[in-house]
Amino acid sequence: MRTIDLSGSSALVLGVANQRSLAWAIAEALGEAGCRLAFTYQGERLHKNVNQLAEKFPDALIMPCDVTSTEQIDGVFAEIEREYGRLDTMVHSIAFARREDLEGTFRKTSRDGWRVALEISAYSLIALAKRAVPLMEKEGGSILALSFIASQRVFPNYNVMGSAKAALEHAVRQLAYELGPLNIRVNTISAGPVPTLSARGISGFTGMVSHHREHAPLQRGIEPREVGDAALFLCSPMASAITGETLYVDAGYHVMGV
Ligand code: NAP
Repeated sequence: MRTIDLSGSSALVLGVANQRSLAWAIAEALGEAGCRLAFTYQGERLHKNVNQLAEKFPDALIMPCDVTSTEQIDGVFAEIEREYGRLDTMVHSIAFARREDLEGTFRKTSRDGWRVALEISAYSLIALAKRAVPLMEKEGGSILALSFIASQRVFPNYNVMGSAKAALEHAVRQLAYELGPLNIRVNTISAGPVPTLSARGISGFTGMVSHHREHAPLQRGIEPREVGDAALFLCSPMASAITGETLYVDAGYHVMGV
């Protein structure tokens, strides 16, 4: 039972790959609170997964969206405008870097590896926000992105993705400033490590999870559901004065020095 009621509102959730995805935990939280959901998938490989998961929400919209394609991004928002007429919430839960850029030395990052990681993981938020604004500006709205503490501190192997998360968090603050007058709030959740499809691509990820568990004040890892709950709060009227914020959902790990 979710205690926040979002009946009558709509949300676009980008980044569901499978049932472990943080995007799915967020979608479940929003959907169980009564939100109408629109999902995107990247490529036919994930279409079936998203279709199966979305069966839980029979009126869900499901659309293709590779964020490197301007055409596909435009298609998503045209469809949402046709179906919903407006949009209340957009969740950006997308990140990608080439496997070779998520291991070994940072200084070997290629120009193209940097471009790919920053374009998909950070620039896409700006491109998506630009299209979301016309659908949110009449009544206000909420935009949420997913980050990781490697934006601020060094996590060996996280490499170029740390640069991408730093750019993403800056984009959140800049968009919060720009969209505040339209009553559109923009926030980030910085989640603790969770073994998802893309997290497993980071060399040494398992060690990162156990280090987190041992050093976090709550002495445990986090559950995707806890990210879903925090997202539900941030996207709801309960968080109406919160924007430009990075909310850590990490069992307190970020406050530690040693
Ligand atoms: P995930 O389930 O693998 O989700 C990542 C999503 O990004 C996938 O659906 C992936 O699709 C999508 N994506 C990659 N390239 C794309 C593109 N060009 N266009 C559209 N979508 C694309 O992993 P996750 O851990 O839930 O990641 C979600 C977000 O949470 C990411 O921003 C991640 O950095 C962040 N985060 C994760 C953790 C963690 O420990 N898991 C911690 C903090 C923050 P494909 O599978 O097709 O590539």
